[in-house]
Amino acid sequence: MSPLLDVQGLGKRFGGFVALDGIDLSVAAGERVGLIGPNGSGKSTLVNCMCGTLQNELGTVQFDGHSMNGLPANIRTHRGMARSFQLPRPFVSMTVAENLRIPLLYTVNARPGNHLSTAEIDARCADLAKLVGLAEKANKLPRDLTQVEMRKLELARAMAAEPKLLIADEAMAGLSQSEINDIVGLLITLNERGITIIMIEHIMRAVMAFSQRLVVLVSGKKIADGKPEDVVNNPEVIGAYLGQ
Ligand code: ADP
Ligand code: MG
Repeated sequence: MSPLLDVQGLGKRFGGFVALDGIDLSVAAGERVGLIGPNGSGKSTLVNCMCGTLQNELGTVQFDGHSMNGLPANIRTHRGMARSFQLPRPFVSMTVAENLRIPLLYTVNARPGNHLSTAEIDARCADLAKLVGLAEKANKLPRDLTQVEMRKLELARAMAAEPKLLIADEAMAGLSQSEINDIVGLLITLNERGITIIMIEHIMRAVMAFSQRLVVLVSGKKIADGKPEDVVNNPEVIGAYLGQ
């Protein structure tokens, strides 16, 4: 079966600085992939290029059988790619429920054959808020949320677009161990419901609990891609990242 996501030879420069150098990344439908690497290694830039927030100069991105090359972010979201941002980006003057309603109205309802009624949209918002543990905060503003609730809202905003692929960019930084376990559990639940997930994270306990495969970026290059237990014992990975 062809992969859900197939990135080939992706290259991105910022001026003269090579941020990504010939990245290949293939992700099968239903997989849970961890993406790790030092700060500044190009992880978020790779996400931005895959999702259309940035345009790569070199290489190709195929998703769900279609070329995404040159397409803007909103079209890629429409086609089923979603991501959460490292720094949450909710609509600050809207409640939690309203934040979830926006992707349902403008992305899900815009897909061919979808004509969700207001009641159906409300029901999907409520289900999603419940799934991420924000049901009781549905009518609160983002500023009333704790840090972990804010991270859950950020993931739920991405999930509200009902994606095939979710990319979670550092959803756990600054959280306590039990909050980290909570988010890992949530991501695994989403995966069990059929969502393919790429998780970017520094917290290795979370990475190892989550990942079926591990990919390592260092200075814009992919240096490892394989079984988590093999990758974390790879001397090059230890030298460039894990042993730091
Ligand atoms: P990571 O997510 O792995 O920490 P990033 O992808 O954010 O790394 O950044 C990779 C490199 O590209 C860093 O050196 C960063 O400073 C640089 N970079 C990222 N975004 C931009 C940008 N918009 N303009 C210029 N340089 C950037
Ligand atoms: Mg980053």
